[in-house]
Amino acid sequence: MATAPEEERRGPVDDRSVRPGLAALAQGPALYDSLGLLAPAYVDEVSGYRFYRPDQLEQARLVAWLRRLGMPLARIQVVLAAGTTARTAEQVAAYWAETEAEFAARRDLAAHLISYLSEEEAAMPAAQPTLAIRYAARSDIGRHRDRNQDTAYAGQHLLAVADGMGAGGEAASAAVIEALKPLEGTLPAGSLLNAMEDAVREAGSAVRDLAAADPGTGTTLTAMLWSGSQLALVHVGDTRAYLLRAGELFQITHDHSVVQALLDEGKITPEEAESHPQRSLLLQAIDGRSATEPDVSLHDAQAGDRYLLCSDGLTTVVSTGIILDTLSAPGEPEQAVGRLIDLANEAGGPDNIACVVADVVEPGS
Ligand code: MN
Repeated sequence: MATAPEEERRGPVDDRSVRPGLAALAQGPALYDSLGLLAPAYVDEVSGYRFYRPDQLEQARLVAWLRRLGMPLARIQVVLAAGTTARTAEQVAAYWAETEAEFAARRDLAAHLISYLSEEEAAMPAAQPTLAIRYAARSDIGRHRDRNQDTAYAGQHLLAVADGMGAGGEAASAAVIEALKPLEGTLPAGSLLNAMEDAVREAGSAVRDLAAADPGTGTTLTAMLWSGSQLALVHVGDTRAYLLRAGELFQITHDHSVVQALLDEGKITPEEAESHPQRSLLLQAIDGRSATEPDVSLHDAQAGDRYLLCSDGLTTVVSTGIILDTLSAPGEPEQAVGRLIDLANEAGGPDNIACVVADVVEPGS
């Protein structure tokens, strides 16, 4: 048996023993030192025992804790290289913030999945009392553009607005809505979100063909598929959906725009966002080039709800307060759509304007 150097003999850590707090170390010390995480001070030639210096014990404990947090080994390496305790703490905090964000995204997906699966169950036994919608849709060229690239559509089950861009923008916004229209005829029971996602994929290939002829062509899309008690919402770009419920207006889509991202990061104020020179720059659109990842969500409808789908031609010139007042005023969806388009034009009408308004009502009312 070889003799360990004096200091190791005074306080060796035999890595085959399981100590409280050092379970991970006992499980995989060879793996740790193969990654350069924890090279033993001394390895016994005969027994293969690995001896760690007492000062390595601190690091070994840290490694064990980080493993318990679920941190991958490669990331642990980064944390160990941080140097000071303060920097190590920062690294752990950063890792945890990322993990929580990732967790939140997974939680949302799980909620959608549970909701979708329960909906399928619930739809089986008896037809639930369903609600009806009354709707109106219009798109307007505005006062400064020579073409109208916005498309608005409303039907029994589908509500949609799309704001086209580039040389083929008109055709692109029309094409995505055409791709969704088959959903009107064969409304799938209990799989609204899947049906919506499939339709958006179809829409993407339609735009890919248009963009092949006219590079730079693309479109936003905000659409709702209505089942009688639930709404599946799909969203890409800076067209928006709002819900007016019990006198309050909720924006239920999140813009995929540079300005929205700057706002989210707290780099600009809402006031600065309103006049930002890059406010029309999008982070995502259906453009046939990149894989589009639309936001999808399910919403329960209530009698009395009023939905607005609109393009940025409305929201950049008409404030949320005025939109709330206009939607709250008595009248049919047709009147609300007309009034909103008039307001945008009165404010200069710098862009095309698309609006869809739909009221959720008790059947027969
Ligand atoms: Mn626009």
